[in-house]
Amino acid sequence: MAIFEKATAKVQKGWSIWKKMFSWMCIWGLIFSLVTIGRLRVGFDYDDTLVFSTPAFNKAFKSGVQAFSPEFWSIVNQSYDLERPKYFTNAFAWFFRLLGFRITVIAARPPEGGDPLKKEWRHLVHGADFQFVPDAEKKPSILRQGNYILYFGDSDSDIVVARRAGIFPLRVRRSVQSSNKDEYHPGTMGELTIPLSQF
Ligand SMILES: [Mg+2]
Repeated sequence: MAIFEKATAKVQKGWSIWKKMFSWMCIWGLIFSLVTIGRLRVGFDYDDTLVFSTPAFNKAFKSGVQAFSPEFWSIVNQSYDLERPKYFTNAFAWFFRLLGFRITVIAARPPEGGDPLKKEWRHLVHGADFQFVPDAEKKPSILRQGNYILYFGDSDSDIVVARRAGIFPLRVRRSVQSSNKDEYHPGTMGELTIPLSQF
């Protein structure tokens, strides 16, 4: 009899775990459908937001080509093997991706030789949603074209751009090793800063 009771208890426990899993899947499915139907998007800046890219820039600076020339940007765009993904921002991006959001990346770089870089990110970002936009003035109009709910960026201008487009900005901290020290005053613009996002 004891064996029978034990077996019953086990089955009941298994059933309740299954029911819980099923409810979570239903909730996820509902959110996923609503997000997909609404074509909701989340935007990300690239350098110092999604990746720590200082090593790629260093390689281009040391290569001997004219700084910020098309050849320079071609080296930067093709040195993504030297870039390190930023763990917190990437975790956020994948969280939203799995909830059905379309992820847009706006890299503040010219597009020279950037196709392999786009391809590298194809699992997270659909091809056309990875955009090279060196001119910050053009970003708000791009962001206004989609139903964005959030924009992640590290620079002061990212916060300004998102607000001008009417999107809620989130500040990502730069790595302390980042060589980019300009336009960086996290928390001073009344924006929300993500803790630990420097990693
Ligand atoms: Mg940046």
